[in-house]
Amino acid sequence: MDRLELIEVAGNSYVVSGKYGIGVYLDRSSKTAVCIDSGPNAAVIEKVCTRISDRGYQILAVVHTHGHAVNHGGNLYLKKRFPNLRIYATHLASFLIENPHLEPLVFEAGGESDTKPDQNKENADALVTDYLPSADGIFHVHTIPFKIVSLPGHSPGMVGFVTPDHVLYCGDALFGPKTLNKQDLLFFNDLRAARKSFKKLSMMKLNAYVLYHGGAFKTVTSLINKHLTLMKDTSAFLEALIHEQPSTLEQLVQQVMKKYKFEDDLHRYGLTTSIIRSYVKELLQEKRIVAKVDNGLLLFSKSAATI
Ligand SMILES: [Zn+2]
Repeated sequence: MDRLELIEVAGNSYVVSGKYGIGVYLDRSSKTAVCIDSGPNAAVIEKVCTRISDRGYQILAVVHTHGHAVNHGGNLYLKKRFPNLRIYATHLASFLIENPHLEPLVFEAGGESDTKPDQNKENADALVTDYLPSADGIFHVHTIPFKIVSLPGHSPGMVGFVTPDHVLYCGDALFGPKTLNKQDLLFFNDLRAARKSFKKLSMMKLNAYVLYHGGAFKTVTSLINKHLTLMKDTSAFLEALIHEQPSTLEQLVQQVMKKYKFEDDLHRYGLTTSIIRSYVKELLQEKRIVAKVDNGLLLFSKSAATI
């Protein structure tokens, strides 16, 4: 693995180089550091810890944007190294952080999991210590004020954090160009909420935005537009399929996996099902399709108004 560095975003706000945009805020007066998310595993966060301690700082807390495994995999290592570590998360995120075996259920991957049961048990040693509201507001880690920005859409209860340097760490509310170039199907579980979060992000006055998959950006307008285009394409593809022929969720998933040339594996299937369900939900909300049960099968079809 490459050497990880702390890249200065603005003032005391940093982002870790490499695949995972872990945030680091260094409080110069107290020589303490706050991590924003903790990476996928001990190996990554250990390197981050080394960079932080090289500068003479101690990690005081980790604040979580949401509860996906790649965002909290470093907690156990941090807790062992810093026994007084505070772990902050919203109630919804902490549900997944403290019960990582539930994540595959959320993705509906048929119970397949990369997390072994003993790792789940060990996670009981790195429980969330401080619950955050999912609504906008301010909280303090020791004396450092952070602003919570509610950003639902990708994962329930997802939030971003604004540091005193006006840098917003926005988790997976947006994905960076690398992800957008290789992935046409974006992971959002509530598209309406995601669109609202995009609008909110574009209207905020900030020095920079940090994406967990993509790093730091001065502005995000063109990224947002790329997200909207990809979402529109997926939605139009599904609507056309459904208009052509009444379809079940499984048939839609099959067509999407074919279109994007996804490999046949349980995790990919589970993720795709979860994403397609959110698109179908939006098409239903907008009355572009209807749902009915026919002979025990849930079928989506053209709505009467569009015939
Ligand atoms: Zn995520």
